Amino acid sequence: MEAEHVFHRSTEARPPLAVRGEGIYVIDDRGGRYVDACGGAAVSCLGHGHPAVVAAMAEQARRLEYVHTGFFTTEAAEELAADIAGQCPGTLDRVWFTGSGSEAIEAALKLARQYYLERGDSGRSKVIARRLSYHGNTLGALAAGGSAWRRKPYEPLLIDVSLVDPCFEYRFAEPGESAEAYGERAANRLEQEILEIGPDRVMAFVAETVVGATAGAVPPVPDYLRRIREICDRHGMLLILDEVMCGSGRTGTFLSCEQDGVVPDIVTLGKGLGAGYEPIAAAVCSSEVYDAVATGSGALKHGQTYNAHVIGCAAALAVQRVIREERLLPRVRQSGERLMDLLGQSFGQHSNVGDIRGRGLLIALELVADRATKAPFDAALAIHQRAKAEAFARGLLIYPSGGTVDGRSGDHILLAPPYNVSDGELDMIVDLLGQTIDAVLPS
Ligand code: PMP
Repeated sequence: MEAEHVFHRSTEARPPLAVRGEGIYVIDDRGGRYVDACGGAAVSCLGHGHPAVVAAMAEQARRLEYVHTGFFTTEAAEELAADIAGQCPGTLDRVWFTGSGSEAIEAALKLARQYYLERGDSGRSKVIARRLSYHGNTLGALAAGGSAWRRKPYEPLLIDVSLVDPCFEYRFAEPGESAEAYGERAANRLEQEILEIGPDRVMAFVAETVVGATAGAVPPVPDYLRRIREICDRHGMLLILDEVMCGSGRTGTFLSCEQDGVVPDIVTLGKGLGAGYEPIAAAVCSSEVYDAVATGSGALKHGQTYNAHVIGCAAALAVQRVIREERLLPRVRQSGERLMDLLGQSFGQHSNVGDIRGRGLLIALELVADRATKAPFDAALAIHQRAKAEAFARGLLIYPSGGTVDGRSGDHILLAPPYNVSDGELDMIVDLLGQTIDAVLPS
C-alpha cells in the first residue's frame, strides 16, 4: 500500500479498502463482504455493478466525456431532464443539474432569491427551515439545515436562517394529541414565524419531505405538508422540498411528496438519482419560477464547472430506465412494507427500540434508554456509532445518526436497501441487525 495521503473523515483510523461491489454487497481487499443495507447514505438504489448503468456510462465516456454548460447542452442532459420532468407532478419541469445534493440546495436557494429579484420584490431574502433537518454541508445548505452539531463549529459563517420545529410526531406531539391536531400545530408554527419576521421578507420555506440523516426517516403526519403548502401560498413565498434522500423513488413514488398530495415550487434530488454510479443531483423548478428568470434577466446567476456532467446524466438516465424496466417502484412499496413487518416482529417489543418508522425503503429504528418514557440514551454513549461499528463487524452496513433538539431525539439506525433487494436479503438484514442490537444493548 502507498503512503497515506488521503484526508479521511476520521484522522484516527484508515477505513477498510473497498475494491468491488456486487449487488447488495461491498467487498474489501481482504475478501470481507458487507451487506449494504443503507446504500452508503441512501445512495446505491440499484445495488452495486448494475450492468445496464455501467454500459451506458462506458458508451457515453467513449463518445463524449465532458463539455461545459456555458458552451453546449448534451443529449444525455436533455433526455434526463425530460425524463425527470415527466415523472414530476404539477409544473415541475425545469431541471438544473449539479454534482451533489448540497449544490442542489445552494442552487435552489439562489434561484428562490433570484425569482423575487426578477419580480422586483427585493425585500424577500429570508429563509425558514427546520430543526433536526439536513440539507448538506456547504455553508448555505448547512445554514438551512437544523443539525446542531454540524452547524455549531461554523456558526459565525452561516447565513441567517430561521429554524422552526420539525414535524416529528414521536418526539414532538403532546401525549394524547391526535396526529391531525399535532400536524396543524406544527404547521401553524411556520405561520407564526412568518408573521414574526414579516411576510414580505420571507422568500422560502425549506424542508425534507421525509427527514433522513438527522432524525431517522421521519415522514410528515397526514395533512402537515398540505397545510404548509397553503401557508406558503397565503404569504406568497416559495416551498422548497429537499428530496435528495427521500426522492428518486426511495419511498415508492418518484417524489415522496406525491404521497402527501403536495407539489413544491422547487424540489431537490440527488443520491438515488444516479444511484451512486456518478455524482449527480438536481434542483427542479416549476414553470412559474423558471419563467420569472426566462422573461427577466434570462440567466440564473449561478453555474459550476461540473453542472450537468454528461456521464452523470447518462448514468442517471440509465438508472431511470432500469427502475421502469424492472418495475422497481411498486417493489419498493412492497419490500418497504415487508421490511417494516419484519422489524416490527423482531424489535416491536424491544425495551430499547422506541420507534420504527419510515416510508417505502427509507426506514429507521430509534433506540431509547426507556421505551415507556422515550428517554434517549446519554449522547456521550454514542449508541448509534456503536451500533454502526457492531454491524460493520458482522458485515452489515447501516447508517447511524444522532441528532438532538433539547434532548428530544437521539440514536437512530437508518436502513435504505436497494430498490431491487430480495426477500432473502431483507431477512438477512433483519437477522444481522438483531445480532447488532443484542451486542450493543444486551437485555
Ligand atoms: N439534502 C438531504 C436531505 C440529504 O440527505 C443530503 C445528504 N445526506 C444532502 C442534502 C446533501 O447531499 P450531498 O451530501 O450530496 O451534498
